[in-house]
Amino acid sequence: MAKAYLGLGSNLGNKKANIEAAIQMLANNEKIKVLKISSYYETEPVGFKEQDWFLNIVVKIETLLDPYELLEFCHVIEGKLQRKRIIRWGPRTIDVDILLYENFYSNNEKLTVPHLRMTERAFVMVPLFEIEPELKLNGENIKKILEQLKGQDIKKLND
Ligand code: ADP
Ligand code: MG
Repeated sequence: MAKAYLGLGSNLGNKKANIEAAIQMLANNEKIKVLKISSYYETEPVGFKEQDWFLNIVVKIETLLDPYELLEFCHVIEGKLQRKRIIRWGPRTIDVDILLYENFYSNNEKLTVPHLRMTERAFVMVPLFEIEPELKLNGENIKKILEQLKGQDIKKLND
């Protein structure tokens, strides 16, 4: 089984319900085991600013799916939750990204792993640090990477 980390985000409709539905779909896949779920974080949009804040989490899984099969399943989840692709980086009911997949490395448009620019994004690094504080990315400690992202607005949602 391969360990992987997924980033989930929503900024349309009932954001928490969208993310919970996505987690449920992951958990219901017999080739996926959900190992850890971070807290929910309210985060400032990156890129296209004229949109509602996002709700983001990171999930750690173990899976028998290969990276491309996992990507396909991420798209199935997005399709089921009726994500509308209107504006790039724009509002979406759900976004499911593969952040890391074991030691897999891929650098093409269809699948880039580790996820492009993840280390620059507090909405990825804060929840990832919460569930994997000892993680190293590119040989660098996640805690150190996080310290460089202090300016970005991110609030932990009270549960
Ligand atoms: P973004 O997540 O950057 O806001 P999208 O969710 O619309 O944008 O993704 C656009 C494309 O990015 C997808 O069709 C997918 O094939 C590709 N992609 C490349 N690398 C990844 C990855 N690690 N996880 C998810 N999608 C990826
Ligand atoms: Mg995406």
